[in-house]
Amino acid sequence: MAGIEAFFNQPQQKPREPIGPGELLSPPDEAAIKWPEPNENPKFWERPPIRMPENLDPKTCEITTKPLHVVHVTAEMAPVAKVGGLGDVVTGLARAHLCQGHNVEVCIPYYSSLEGKVEDVQHVMDFDVPKGEQWEWDGEKEIRMSDFQWSMYSGKIGGCPIIALRPAFREGSNLFVGQRIYGGSYNEAEAYLSFCRASLECLRVTGRDPNVIHVHEWQCSAVAMLYWDVYHAQGLLNNAKVMLTIHNMDNTGECREEEFMATGVPGSEFNTLEKAMDERTIGHNPERLCLMKGAIVYSNYVTTVSPTYAREALNGSAGFLGKTLMKERTKFSGVINGVDTEIWDARLDNFLPANFKPGTMEGKALCKKYVQMGLGMNVDPHKPLVVCISRLVPQKGINLIEHAIPRTKEKGGQFVLLGSGHSDPPFQRLAESVYKNDKDVKLLIFYSDALSHLLYAAADCVLVPSMFEPCGLTQMIAMCYGALPIVRKTGGLADTVHDVDDPSMSDSKKNGFVFEGADNNSLDGALDRAMRYYHERKPWWKGMQEQVMDIDNSWERAGEEYVQLYRMITGIREDNDHY
Ligand code: ADP
Repeated sequence: MAGIEAFFNQPQQKPREPIGPGELLSPPDEAAIKWPEPNENPKFWERPPIRMPENLDPKTCEITTKPLHVVHVTAEMAPVAKVGGLGDVVTGLARAHLCQGHNVEVCIPYYSSLEGKVEDVQHVMDFDVPKGEQWEWDGEKEIRMSDFQWSMYSGKIGGCPIIALRPAFREGSNLFVGQRIYGGSYNEAEAYLSFCRASLECLRVTGRDPNVIHVHEWQCSAVAMLYWDVYHAQGLLNNAKVMLTIHNMDNTGECREEEFMATGVPGSEFNTLEKAMDERTIGHNPERLCLMKGAIVYSNYVTTVSPTYAREALNGSAGFLGKTLMKERTKFSGVINGVDTEIWDARLDNFLPANFKPGTMEGKALCKKYVQMGLGMNVDPHKPLVVCISRLVPQKGINLIEHAIPRTKEKGGQFVLLGSGHSDPPFQRLAESVYKNDKDVKLLIFYSDALSHLLYAAADCVLVPSMFEPCGLTQMIAMCYGALPIVRKTGGLADTVHDVDDPSMSDSKKNGFVFEGADNNSLDGALDRAMRYYHERKPWWKGMQEQVMDIDNSWERAGEEYVQLYRMITGIREDNDHY
């Protein structure tokens, strides 16, 4: 087991030294660092954590409020079932609420890639889940219903209790089988629809009675629809209210009526304009369902992950669901994500060769040297290191990333890209040709949580040039590690990064470099300024690094906003009474 999985699965060996905000870290011991070499195998980022890891069980604070029982239903959960920010958000939010004493469980598919990575995993039971199949025969629809057996496992991920579900008979189903979270050789719509039904059935057969079922993204949207029309309508589950969080409207879950039968319910039940019909398919034969639309209509409350993205969603610039959201706008708002500051903490991060915090920043320079050495780059403390950690998909501004690489070099900097996704091939080609022996550029086209920790710590700047960005976590994680973000002004990036030269911003809010246009010149305006300020304003830069590390981007604030929304929809007040 390597990297972060090892980190999260090792038992607690030694309690971490508590470090108060005012306390200084002891200066890092440079001589004790085992400096990496470029050709080291396994790679330097796969080394076991330098210190023994903290047990990540959320520490319960004393709470005076009435605890809520929340069940999240999600396709991702960091760190072991994570592809992007969705996984981070679910784990961060769940851990924040556990910390406050709420009862939180996270229901996820038991992907075969999770095997061996779940703490305290136990098989709880097998149970039957209704499933249907629909054919069309000479214009006549034929429906066949059956029960399909699923297995329920309990365990923990990142200290959070989970319910992991998968079909009981591996030989009878390949759902959720594969090396990765997405992209297995099964029909994803069918897989997640079956999982949605299995989640509700699991709550029913285990007698769970949550206050809130919090569903995420299109994959789990059918839960909202089935909860009200199948379970609540028949008195099978009674007391829950449903919250939907939209993390990205780029994928809204288009689904054929017959595919919906995987839930055991005919898609025709929901295929009306008021419910889940995808308006773009009106007049097609047959019309299709849009699962996210169904969840927007059926949920008691809908959030998205930043106020600006919420506005973009309502005005239609974030996708075709604007009309539906406009109709439902009284139950829709944006809550900016937080960062899990236990996982992303420069003071205590076990992946780093040296730690740091405002006032004791020597460790950051050592992290930069460590990464430069390990990646075979020029070891030079004076070259600004620009890092980009991203899924490589059009949303993330692929062309701008590609442009920023030579531009950074031209301005005397270094560039490291850690990315993976649909656009791997062109970047892989660049890595193997133009930049093969470049000592100031490294293009690393794969996914590694452990390496991402090292890169955030080493970075002087983190680039996020997204075309659209619902919230964006990388700019916030960057700030936790004293790296200044360079971002395009869109969605959550606009809410979290304020330009250092913006005269309308108070000095305490300024924290990065912002550009507006989607073209190379606009990017250059921000990137060039960052490079210039790094070279010419050393004390200012240091002060800004320490300032951004002190910004509170933790889940405490966002977690509290969610609790208030949960209390509003359930009517469960802090003092035990109902509204
Ligand atoms: P999105 O959810 O659209 O991918 P976010 O900025 O919300 O974007 O979240 C991205 C998360 O995924 C961050 O935690 C980032 O560090 C991580 N990440 C993205 N690409 C990689 C990669 N190749 N290796 C490791 N972590 C990655």
